[in-house]
Amino acid sequence: GLAPYDEGNIFARILRGEIPARKVLEDDFALAFHDIAPQAPVHVLVIPKGPYVSVADFSRKASPAEISGFWHAVAETARKLGLEDAGFRVLTNMGHDAGQEVPHFHVHIFGGQPLGPMLA
Ligand code: 5GP
Repeated sequence: GLAPYDEGNIFARILRGEIPARKVLEDDFALAFHDIAPQAPVHVLVIPKGPYVSVADFSRKASPAEISGFWHAVAETARKLGLEDAGFRVLTNMGHDAGQEVPHFHVHIFGGQPLGPMLA
């Protein structure tokens, strides 16, 4: 994204432990926690620990180790949630048109029931 990273955003505050979250997984590269307003029976967010505004910012600026570690955490989170057999959806919103609310890169993991077509 074009905006500089805002250290005061809500996910930065969760990473610093200033706001509680229902954690699913945490490692050197990522934190996964339940969404506060779930839109599926299972709705978890996975965020990198580094200061990246969006998927584009992360993909351009993060190191190979950060990128690899992040996606490993996404897969491990889905496995821990028991979603691998039935399946799940991974989604990220970037910027205005996608309705991104929190300016710290995050992917949503949705699962727990058949999810229907995208953009429905
Ligand atoms: P976005 O629209 O940016 O892709 O999604 C932001 C997500 O963060 C939303 O699904 C919203 O419910 C979730 N969210 C916003 N604030 C908090 C919070 O303080 N704690 C948690 N766990 N989730 C939050």
